[in-house]
Amino acid sequence: MVEKRTIHGSCHCGEISVTAQITDDKVMACHCSDCQIFGGGPFRAVVIASADNFQMKGYPKEYVKVGDSGNSRIQAFCGDCGTHLYAADIDKTTFNIRTGFLAERHQLIPNRHIFGKSAFSWLGKLANQDWLEAGPGSMPYDGASLMKAEPPSAGE
Ligand SMILES: [Zn+2]
Ligand SMILES: [Zn+2]
Repeated sequence: MVEKRTIHGSCHCGEISVTAQITDDKVMACHCSDCQIFGGGPFRAVVIASADNFQMKGYPKEYVKVGDSGNSRIQAFCGDCGTHLYAADIDKTTFNIRTGFLAERHQLIPNRHIFGKSAFSWLGKLANQDWLEAGPGSMPYDGASLMKAEPPSAGE
């Protein structure tokens, strides 16, 4: 039995905040082309919570997309700052919360990657690419050691 814990986060402008009770085995990364287009990046990571484990303050904007499966999926984001918040089924029984805006994002390690067939081919080469500590012109950073790093402790 995996222990349930509370996670929380706010969008960039602070209008919307989310709290949820999750287990660490419910984290996954999605490499589908919709996630790439919505996210403007290679993939999006989510942690899944049922409606009774999900609380929100504020009112996100919702966009409904129809997936390849024919299912409608709500894509919720802050209408002011654009932060991606969650995806949900139309009845909002389950929330796939984007880990990127959560305070605990570094501890939420995906244990499954879905839509590998559309994943960016360079992801596997990250460790050997040219890393800098911060912005352009900053100190070199050891990307290879990052790839080997143990995930930070979840505070057990
Ligand atoms: Zn916002
Ligand atoms: Zn996706």
